[in-house]
Amino acid sequence: MSGPNRIKQYSIEGLRSLLLEWGEPAYRANQLLHWLYAAAVSSYQEMSDLPFSLRLRLEKEAPLITPQVLDRRLSADGSLKYLLELWDGSLIETVAIPSRNRLSVCFSTQVGCALGCAFCTTGIGGLVRSLDPGEMVDQLLVVSRDLDRRVDNAVAMGEGEPFANYEAALSALRIMNASTALGIGARHLTVSTCGLIKQIERFAQEPEQFTLAVSLHSAVQSTRDLLMPSLCNQPLDRLRDSLLLYAEITGRRPSLEVTLMDSVNDTPKEVSALLAFSRGLLCHVNLIPFNKGRSPDADLGFKPSSPIRFQEIAAILQDAGIACSVRRSRGSDIQGACGQLKGALYR
Ligand code: SAH
Ligand code: SF4
Repeated sequence: MSGPNRIKQYSIEGLRSLLLEWGEPAYRANQLLHWLYAAAVSSYQEMSDLPFSLRLRLEKEAPLITPQVLDRRLSADGSLKYLLELWDGSLIETVAIPSRNRLSVCFSTQVGCALGCAFCTTGIGGLVRSLDPGEMVDQLLVVSRDLDRRVDNAVAMGEGEPFANYEAALSALRIMNASTALGIGARHLTVSTCGLIKQIERFAQEPEQFTLAVSLHSAVQSTRDLLMPSLCNQPLDRLRDSLLLYAEITGRRPSLEVTLMDSVNDTPKEVSALLAFSRGLLCHVNLIPFNKGRSPDADLGFKPSSPIRFQEIAAILQDAGIACSVRRSRGSDIQGACGQLKGALYR
């Protein structure tokens, strides 16, 4: 990606090397990290304990660019959706889910997505570009400033596939995690992947205890191929092996996300396959309502499963000893599922 040499492109390590290269003392990187992400100022001039000459150089050689909030919608259930404009005019979506005890943010990792899953509006326009680490962290800062409270949880479950932008997504999680930046505990930082096997195995080796969610949607290969056509080369048996390895290395329980669609992945055959896939795997199954959206061009031809079917499937899994929860759909009146707000406004 071209454009100016934005400071928000840099990882923590990248900031350290840049400042060392410029002959600055080692502690400057932490000062800069603090100003960029803890104090979250919008100009170098506010960074009062950095030497004036350094502020000038940064402004000239590594401009500080922050996103603009173009739209903000409050859902009846209290969740909020933000439409942000980035330095190159790209638009991304961020969702905030506040509750009494905690504030969760669902952030985007790419503009659009190359994978084109059949039920997801994000994939419709393809991939525009990947986000910089700082552009991911900025989404949390926008929410935190707007609601005047600290972000407690963040999930890479907005637009894009985080593992198709692995380095930047990991750098973003590390900034979110760093005590000099946002200080969010690693276990409260989650990556949701459509199931890229190599990256799951790589993620298992990372030293931090970040959380993993895998969008499974179906444990029947032919159904999954239909729903997620770009993932035909990531077969279910190998995906399952990578999750076994993940659990063995980390001792942590990934969640398996299943968006239930009527007569597609909620049939008895599908439920048996899901049972077989999850049995013997350290995992937690999350059943999610399919979010249809209200925009007519967001009609992808799927219908949500009935609430009764939801409860039946949850009971079958629980009876088989598989940890399972039914996630409430949040923000469906504000085009809550990924890609829907942008779809409703700009397509
Ligand atoms: N690319 C990653 C993360 C972004 S998608 C992934 O696929 O996991 C985040 C979640 O939203 C995924 O579980 C995805 O399957 C789900 N999703 C996409 N469109 C949806 C819709 N219309 N209704 C409900 N969930 C949807
Ligand atoms: Fe991309 Fe995830 Fe949407 Fe699939 S579900 S198109 S991987 S964002």
